[in-house]
Amino acid sequence: MKTITILGSTGSVGRQVLDVISKHPHQYKVVGLSAYKNEHLLREQLDKYNPSFYYYPDGAVEVQSSVFDFLEETKYTKCLSSLEELAKIPVDIVVLAVSGIAGLWAAVAVLSRGGTLAIANKETIVCAGRHLKMLEKKFGGKIIPLDTEHSAIFCCLKGEEKKQVKNLVLTASGGALRDMPIDKLSSVKAEDALRHPVWNMGKKVTIDSATLFNKGLEVIEAMRLFEVGAENVKVVMHRQSIVHALVEFDDNSMKGLFSVPDMRLAIDTALSYPAHGKNSVEPLDLSKVGTLTFEEPDYDRYPCLKLAIEAAQSGETACIALSAADEVLVEEYLNGNIKFTDIAVALKKVLAKFSKSGNVGLESILGIDERARKYTYDIIGVK
Ligand code: MG
Repeated sequence: MKTITILGSTGSVGRQVLDVISKHPHQYKVVGLSAYKNEHLLREQLDKYNPSFYYYPDGAVEVQSSVFDFLEETKYTKCLSSLEELAKIPVDIVVLAVSGIAGLWAAVAVLSRGGTLAIANKETIVCAGRHLKMLEKKFGGKIIPLDTEHSAIFCCLKGEEKKQVKNLVLTASGGALRDMPIDKLSSVKAEDALRHPVWNMGKKVTIDSATLFNKGLEVIEAMRLFEVGAENVKVVMHRQSIVHALVEFDDNSMKGLFSVPDMRLAIDTALSYPAHGKNSVEPLDLSKVGTLTFEEPDYDRYPCLKLAIEAAQSGETACIALSAADEVLVEEYLNGNIKFTDIAVALKKVLAKFSKSGNVGLESILGIDERARKYTYDIIGVK
């Protein structure tokens, strides 16, 4: 039986991880859970999975007091003082499914004890991926990606020689607004941008899919996880979301991973590693799919993708700054304070300001993140 901690268990990814675990109750034991603000769901999950530990941050006073009430009731479940402390509990796999840079120190904690980290937290990979890979090698742990595209690459690389890999190819569905005329994008409402044609995900990643900034983050993520240059990660539009990613080898052959679009495959891949899972998702009937199409991305439609690729080429400072700025911009777009097209306009300004080359030390990441957020608020004139 594998023991598992899920950091961010009430979010979209965390809930799907618990869904996979529920289907295999004899294979997995939940040891730790954490949530950021959904106390109600966390209570339900604690009841159902009865983990030994959990973490819930100090929030508003009324939330805090009810958490303390709750503590009294659940005397067998211990509330820890930080995400990092929970990450340090030795279990077979820690799933990092929190949103944003908040997952950074938890990821460092898991790898510093030589643990296995199944990571869905893009921002942490984008900002600190190089450090995470160093810790993985130094302490003998393992990083397993949970992002569908990177999980696909991870599978395609099994048994392959890294030196024979020429390019990694990420596919992109195009997001919720892929068929909207470009001149209509400035007035698009958040509820329309949130209606993804294929994937059902959290709000931040769904808006990022509509701008394709998400794919830009995934380019950086692929560079960090698989230790390749920006020039070796390609993006291709693929509306059907059946081929999740491909690896191109020196002989110009390509190997891709096909499945119905369902994140639970990547989750099962991570939890079952090194074996395959079993019936993780619905079978894929290729004759029903019929046609698979692939196209070049249109950078006029998706300027955010281009900016993220420029950041990837520029260096770590630009990647950290752009990722932080985007968190602010997506939130302010969802709050109705800026237009959809303002996201790209502001990102461009942030990229111009934070283009310093060279590597960034682990201790400097949060400082750059903070400066980029502040600069972004100055640009858009909110706060
Ligand atoms: Mg993805």
